[in-house]
Amino acid sequence: MSDSLEYPLASVPAPGTLFPVVPGVFWLRLPLPFALDHINLWVLEDGPGWTLIDTGIADEMTRAVWQDLLAGPLAGRPVRRVVCTHFHPDHMGLAGWLEAETGAPLWTTLGEWTYARMLWLEDDAAFVATARPFYQRSGLGDAALALVERRGNSYARRIVAPPASVRRVQGGERLTIGGRSWTAVIGRGHAPEHLSLWCPEDRLLISGDQVLPRISPNVSVWPSEPWADPLAGFLESLARFAPLDADTLVLPSHGEPFRGLHARLEDLATHHQARLDDVLAACRETPCSAFDLISVLFRRNLDSHQLFFAIGEVIAHLHWLEGKNLLQRQQEGEVDKFFVL
Ligand SMILES: [Zn+2]
Repeated sequence: MSDSLEYPLASVPAPGTLFPVVPGVFWLRLPLPFALDHINLWVLEDGPGWTLIDTGIADEMTRAVWQDLLAGPLAGRPVRRVVCTHFHPDHMGLAGWLEAETGAPLWTTLGEWTYARMLWLEDDAAFVATARPFYQRSGLGDAALALVERRGNSYARRIVAPPASVRRVQGGERLTIGGRSWTAVIGRGHAPEHLSLWCPEDRLLISGDQVLPRISPNVSVWPSEPWADPLAGFLESLARFAPLDADTLVLPSHGEPFRGLHARLEDLATHHQARLDDVLAACRETPCSAFDLISVLFRRNLDSHQLFFAIGEVIAHLHWLEGKNLLQRQQEGEVDKFFVL
């Protein structure tokens, strides 16, 4: 799997330094306090100023990196806009802070901006009132449900107030940044209206989290949309990248820049098909809750942060199969179980 990917850049930039990838595009890698321990941001020369792609998470270390960059290598040229690929805190966490520091407006899709605003505004009690029954139906036990209550709305703590206004980017729109024309490609499944930027002339793709080289982007059902079928959206979205040139250099938010996009798209589709087969096989044996299936999809220990991504991902596979009438659902006590008729 992924043997056919090529990683043309020999080294990874030191945290907080700007590493030129191609003329006018710099790679900025920042640590993250999760098992997924880094994020890639992109700093683009934009005529007299700069365009920033994604912001990092809202912690002191990330703010300090930006302050050093704004006072150092970026100084003297204005930040013209902050483009966010999606609403997740490692991507949009500091958009509001950067707007306040630099005056740069947020550019993203309406789906990502509204999701960020909505989740940021939700208080802990309202979050728990929706999340607890959702996770209870998925089969999580008392300890995990207590954790849901204790954590409350953890999203709101990892992001500063998202900007109150947005420059909306729409699918197919062309953004001119520096001398390049970038086409907005919308992806679904990982986030509601994920924005990737494609420069056909120079065969570059800023893929965000939609296409990652070493890990499969998380595709989860979350308490805010308990009936969603994000896997259908994700698999359909893979086709939107098919027209890109075979030697496109992909700049992903996690992992290293790579070539071999089409092989990676195929890997991702194959990966999910295999997981769907596993889920179906398990439910054919005996009715399963989402929780029962975590060990089928994830054969490793999960920390509490990963547990919620894992159960969300299991539910996404269940909903895809249910949507195709391959699985039926029945309620047992408080828990939804899935089975093959
Ligand atoms: Zn990410």
